[in-house]
Amino acid sequence: MTNDEVTFPGNNWPILQPGWVWLVGAGPGDPGLLTLHGMNALRQADVVVYDALVSEEILSWAPQAEVIYAGKRGGKPSAQQRDISLKLVDLAHDDRRVVRLKGGDPFVFGRGGEEAQSLVQHGIPIRIVPGITAGVGGLAYAGIPVTHRDVNQSVTFVTGHDQSGQTPDTLDWAAIGRGSQVIVIYMGMKHIGRIAEALISGGRPASDPVAVVTTATTDDQRVLETTLDMAEADIARLGMEPPAIICIGKAVQMRDVLDWQAMAEGQPPRNLDPLGRGRPAEIV
Ligand code: SAH
Repeated sequence: MTNDEVTFPGNNWPILQPGWVWLVGAGPGDPGLLTLHGMNALRQADVVVYDALVSEEILSWAPQAEVIYAGKRGGKPSAQQRDISLKLVDLAHDDRRVVRLKGGDPFVFGRGGEEAQSLVQHGIPIRIVPGITAGVGGLAYAGIPVTHRDVNQSVTFVTGHDQSGQTPDTLDWAAIGRGSQVIVIYMGMKHIGRIAEALISGGRPASDPVAVVTTATTDDQRVLETTLDMAEADIARLGMEPPAIICIGKAVQMRDVLDWQAMAEGQPPRNLDPLGRGRPAEIV
């Protein structure tokens, strides 16, 4: 696809000026989940600095731009993060039109906040283009609503890693387990065993439903349904690999009626009333 093939509704789209950096969310994987502001940004970019989780197809929508990979692979993440931020500063100082393209939403567990802060500290003008975060859109593709009136009035997004790559032991997992009906974990694969243990010892039932969704919204999406006490073993048994979103709580049961991808392939819903309300959903 070339830029000319994209017809935009309306004509008041913001202009990406030289020397500016726009931090753009690419969404969780499916290129169609990029926003119109995201597309408008790509069409104007001189340079696109992108992360590991951004799809090739989205990059192909900026054929005029220089494309720079800024993913982090092991090593010293903080030093590399500093390099990325300073690279963005340099590009802006060179009067380029810079798009910093990040997976999901730039301000959700993606260090977009840090990068934006650094740009502002260097006097670079910025715009933030939000994206669909994996913990919402990825779960939606698996048929899991992050909120549902019969299930939860709150949802907690939590990272399974801290800055050093360890389980965030500073988090009060018992309190999270007690206080949040639905818990959505990013970067949780490495420490899921310890996280599950902490939640169970904090009072969360071992039988609590868990969904693990890997490479969500892409053609390679896989979904595991398990329970808190079995999650680690099942992930290992099935050889599931990151990136994954892990959802804990009754929201997972809604897949029985909302797994729209399975239904699109001709499978009937597994259970029209997974929570046993005994009445149609439209009756409150
Ligand atoms: N800013 C991103 C999150 C970056 S942190 C967002 O808003 O989605 C990276 C983590 O996001 C991964 O370890 C994984 O937990 C999650 N993630 C991102 N894309 C994903 C995908 N397609 N499927 C499953 N998890 C994903």
